[in-house]
Amino acid sequence: MTKIDILVEGYAKEIENGWNASSNVTLVTSNSKNIIVDPGCNRKLLLDALEKHKLKTGDIDFVLNTHNHTDHTLLTSIFENAKVITTDEIYAGDHQVEHNNKIPETNLEIIQVPGHTPKHCALVVKTEKGTYVIAGDVFWWIDNEEQKIDIKKKILRIRAIWKN
Ligand SMILES: [Zn+2]
Repeated sequence: MTKIDILVEGYAKEIENGWNASSNVTLVTSNSKNIIVDPGCNRKLLLDALEKHKLKTGDIDFVLNTHNHTDHTLLTSIFENAKVITTDEIYAGDHQVEHNNKIPETNLEIIQVPGHTPKHCALVVKTEKGTYVIAGDVFWWIDNEEQKIDIKKKILRIRAIWKN
């Protein structure tokens, strides 16, 4: 069984000279593996959410960073046993290899997606309830901002990338 839980809901609030922002943090459990997609940068919210799910940082097997922005990646290293996955590689400590677009030992597929940095990826998760794509900052907006992008157009582009 494959399960998806939002551990931390992301936020982006503009402040004077900067931002208060942290990404969504998603937990995917599949084939007895615990995968965090984008650990974000709010340590307290993340540790509280893990505790609610009866997980410790050492229980996480993989961290997938959807792209290299600090509000998504800052807490990557708190998961002491996790292999770290990016758009095209897996790190286990100082050992780096390319991946085959899968989270090892699962059926979870890593796809390349459009975004606001050159290398963005997303995770395709098939569950009993349907297929989900967990994507960081493919759609981006400030809290309470009206959407000015054509989301349907972006979704169609992601579908086209995924099918090819
Ligand atoms: Zn970003």
